Amino acid sequence: MDKTELFNEYNIPYTCRECGGIMIFRGVGEYCCEDCKALDYDDYGKVRLYIEKRSGATAPEIERATGVSQKKIRNMLREKRFQIAADSISFLHCEMCGKSIRCGRLCDGCEIQYHRSLEENQRQLRQKNIKGTGINRQGDEGHRRFMRKDD
Ligand SMILES: [Zn+2]
Ligand SMILES: [Zn+2]
Repeated sequence: MDKTELFNEYNIPYTCRECGGIMIFRGVGEYCCEDCKALDYDDYGKVRLYIEKRSGATAPEIERATGVSQKKIRNMLREKRFQIAADSISFLHCEMCGKSIRCGRLCDGCEIQYHRSLEENQRQLRQKNIKGTGINRQGDEGHRRFMRKDD
């Protein structure tokens, strides 16, 4: 299950800063709390937002505005298709399934799956915490819900 840790160099927000709810991945670095609908962004999302507002921003400028290190920004530029990325990207492969992709490290399907598994982990973590507070519930209902997977 280390796959889920592998890609968290972008500081993915797992839980909501407002209410502690689980942050659901919505694509392009954006996350939405499933409880209070607060929005948050990972490093990629922050950089992307900034570049959208100021196209042609330099790496030091982006670093100052977003707090994301220049090294990371450069890596992102190489991996993802920001407008200021000059490098021509040839063929990349999804790091999970090997499918050829045009940008990033994962194909669309695997990226979603990856985020869903993070969300699921977070959910289980939360359940454990709730159980750990002394209320000794059977946890049957929760279990049954997790076993139902509509693929
Ligand atoms: Zn929230
Ligand atoms: Zn894939």
